[in-house]
Amino acid sequence: MAGVSGRFPRERLVPGWDVDALAAAAVVVVGVGALGNEVAKNLALAGVGRLVLCDPDTVEPGNLSRSVLFRPGDAGRPKVAAASDALRALSAGLRVAARPYELRHGVGLGELAEADAVVGCLDTLRARMRLLGRCALVEAPLVDGATGPWEGEVRLRLSTEEPCYGCSLTAHQRGVGDSPWSCRDLGNGPLGAAIGTTALVAAWMTQAVLGLLLGRTPSYRLLRIDAPSGRSGPVLLTRDPHCPHHRPLDAPPRRLPFSHEVTIRQFLSALPPDAEPQSWVDFPVRTRCPSCGDYAEPAPERPAETASIVECPGCGQRCRLRRTVRLRTAPGSAPLAGLGVARGEILPVRDPGGKFTWYQLKA
Ligand SMILES: [Zn+2]
Ligand SMILES: [Zn+2]
Repeated sequence: MAGVSGRFPRERLVPGWDVDALAAAAVVVVGVGALGNEVAKNLALAGVGRLVLCDPDTVEPGNLSRSVLFRPGDAGRPKVAAASDALRALSAGLRVAARPYELRHGVGLGELAEADAVVGCLDTLRARMRLLGRCALVEAPLVDGATGPWEGEVRLRLSTEEPCYGCSLTAHQRGVGDSPWSCRDLGNGPLGAAIGTTALVAAWMTQAVLGLLLGRTPSYRLLRIDAPSGRSGPVLLTRDPHCPHHRPLDAPPRRLPFSHEVTIRQFLSALPPDAEPQSWVDFPVRTRCPSCGDYAEPAPERPAETASIVECPGCGQRCRLRRTVRLRTAPGSAPLAGLGVARGEILPVRDPGGKFTWYQLKA
């Protein structure tokens, strides 16, 4: 580790700084757009040892004006792949995992639980609510950031006992997160922001994450940043008793000796015969065609990636595939990953009495 100690002569003089603690830390960054670029860059420079980057999107030319990790030649590549390459070049020895998927397919609850911090750099309310909800299930410490044109917010949620960002919303606004069919995004979708605001919010987020990793937890939970007035300050959050994001899993998960790469058949053989395992996101299954009675099927190995409407093999009509979360209904040969189950996921398994037990896959 001589290289690591040689890289941080100044930081070693900072009171409370701990190069080894940062090198041993793992941070999950959800959303690798402009804000995610900036925060990931800062964490890599600071010497954080492991980053998990999760984002389903690809680099577009319009991202280049405020994304420090992307170059024109990256257009069309997954954002997480382009960002990983740039981060490795910035910080020798950095371990980066790239997950080019939506959060629930890319980062399992087990991985969130084991991270030293989770960073939200998302641009829609729905994605934000999903991340808040998943972090709540496993008490993962979350630092969430949002940018507007000239202002921003940083929201910390370190335990489900604390008020959260969800508490500051109405039930209707929070519900956006539960309803994948809703196309309302309540105007809380991506607002324009430029690099100045992005960098400002990212700097506050970086300080918050480093504070968590170095045992110097910030005292605020919601920080409002207003560039035009020059004012940045904490805002008090109050707990809404109806906010659902305060109930972690009710028991520690049982650890399975395999990852999401095993097939449904192998997975089921590790469970009691009458157990009903579920995935967090529904996937398409074999569906009877209403016109001819033949069966339309999703792709056998990767059902989760099959389009929701397929051509019936019997009559050629367009047929909407039925969806379910019941893993027993998937083909035995399908890998859990092909059904959209994330690496390191903790899956709910229902017994005949309706009680849930939690099973964790290896990361
Ligand atoms: Zn709440
Ligand atoms: Zn048909």
